[in-house]
Amino acid sequence: MYARTSQGFFSCFLIRGWSLWAACCGLLWTSGCQKQDTPSATGAGLGKAAGVVKVYTHRHYPTDKALFARFEKETGIRVEVVQNAADALIKRIELQGKNTDADVLITVDAGRLVRAQQKGLLQPIRSKVLEAQIPAHLRDPKGHWFGLTRRARVIVYAKDRVKAADLPTYESLAEARWKGKILIRSSNNIYNQSLMASIIAHHGKEKALAWAKGVVTNMARNPKGSDRGQMKAIAGGEGDIAVVNTYYIGLMQTSKSEKDRKVASMLGVIFPNQGDRGAHVNISGAGVVRHARNKSHAVQFIEYLSSPAAQQMFAEANHEYPVHPSVQPSKLVSSWGDFRADTIHLFQLGDKNSQAVEVFDQAGWR
Ligand code: FE
Repeated sequence: MYARTSQGFFSCFLIRGWSLWAACCGLLWTSGCQKQDTPSATGAGLGKAAGVVKVYTHRHYPTDKALFARFEKETGIRVEVVQNAADALIKRIELQGKNTDADVLITVDAGRLVRAQQKGLLQPIRSKVLEAQIPAHLRDPKGHWFGLTRRARVIVYAKDRVKAADLPTYESLAEARWKGKILIRSSNNIYNQSLMASIIAHHGKEKALAWAKGVVTNMARNPKGSDRGQMKAIAGGEGDIAVVNTYYIGLMQTSKSEKDRKVASMLGVIFPNQGDRGAHVNISGAGVVRHARNKSHAVQFIEYLSSPAAQQMFAEANHEYPVHPSVQPSKLVSSWGDFRADTIHLFQLGDKNSQAVEVFDQAGWR
């Protein structure tokens, strides 16, 4: 277990990006978004393979497929992908034990990386390249996992029905004035669990429970659907306010579908808690599996994903915030301006996860 840090460790950082219109999960690269569990090679460089790296990933964005193909082309190392939800992948690695075929685990949430670390499924990696390319507050001090992209979980609202000034914080979502107005996905979603973990870390479990009860009372409908589904429901008049990850807003705004772009145009974006702790930020990241058969390829692969060229792709194609200090967010994301991000240590998102699940249960948040 690594040392819990002082504020200095997770230094306060400002992320460029104001009135966000970014989004995530774009189009799923193979077929399903989160449930698919089928191995596939990306195809490039197969003839001259200098080896293999087997990647278990919860990410499901077209960008990644293109990135992996580039890696194959440049290194000759074949990338084999198993895509599924992080919990299923972690379970699988656990069951496989020493015989696992996984070399790299990629998740869309720091909490799941911490969980894998706590289960002893990841190994510590020292890499000067990774340490240079990824700021210290976005990776495990002992090298069990490394952040590859950042995403903020923000509030979106119907511009014709809500004033941004009335929703300055996550806490304000629990105010009685929003009864029947709030749209948010279910409590088994890891983005919500990490948001709740951050609220518990800041306010304690009791206040977090009171907040969760307030939000449940204010829900426009039982939690269901994706982040993009919540935005569409605002446009459809089911509610006025939703909580979503930034890249999903960007993907809606730049969608090929005119309908999606219209939805995005109706929404305003709020980075919450700019007057105090800042907006909740999570990472998508990777770790080398403890019993990896191809450790050096695994390290090389993660180094590649944190390189400026790869970071640029994460930023431009998926509207995520890069972790590499010299890479800028996409033009769209940059146009939103700077915002203050919560400086809570990412470890807390995993450490408080089980408490978060308990709070959701007690609050009746499905
Ligand atoms: Fe996502």
